[in-house]
Amino acid sequence: MSFELPALPYSQDALEPHISAETLSFHYGKHHNAYVTNLNNLVAGTEFEGKSLEEIMSATAGDATKAGLFNNAAQIWNHTFYWHSMTPNGGGKPEGALAAKIDADFGSFDAFVEAFKAAGATQFGSGWAWLVLDNAGKLQVVKTLNAECPLTEGQTPLLTMDVWEHAYYLDFQNRRPDYIATFLASLLNWAFASENFEKAQAQ
Ligand code: ZN
Repeated sequence: MSFELPALPYSQDALEPHISAETLSFHYGKHHNAYVTNLNNLVAGTEFEGKSLEEIMSATAGDATKAGLFNNAAQIWNHTFYWHSMTPNGGGKPEGALAAKIDADFGSFDAFVEAFKAAGATQFGSGWAWLVLDNAGKLQVVKTLNAECPLTEGQTPLLTMDVWEHAYYLDFQNRRPDYIATFLASLLNWAFASENFEKAQAQ
């Protein structure tokens, strides 16, 4: 039993003109795929063989001697979550219970947007920006470094944006703020975030 590269939820050109098929062919076909290959090599013959991604992540988070296992497992998880956090003709605003919760916890939708843009823009180097439900039941925008994932902090991810250069360099070069603005305006999958929010509420 080994890990497999999960299918993309859309075709590689489905996010054009915002994110090109060329970006997805590298980002999904090379980077995401390499994390799967690496993890399969790392778990072979160890106590982690047969464990889930989440089990490997929680067992190795913060352990410098298992950084390779953590980084590759978390990057598989994060990227799969990221593909679902985008959709063709995405963007706009959330609806229903999640919209009300954003107003309640951030003050307004615009305040959420500012917090999310700031998290993405100020993540120095490689990492991720997230909307999470924290363990007190409050929405928060957080950023994580490299492969780190809010799951191992006891938070429930609702959506994520990859701010590694490999996510945007072919389409936006060094203009990370333009990528972030495009993600919010045209790609963000609010239906996915709402689904995750409802699942977390039901637990
Ligand atoms: Zn990436």
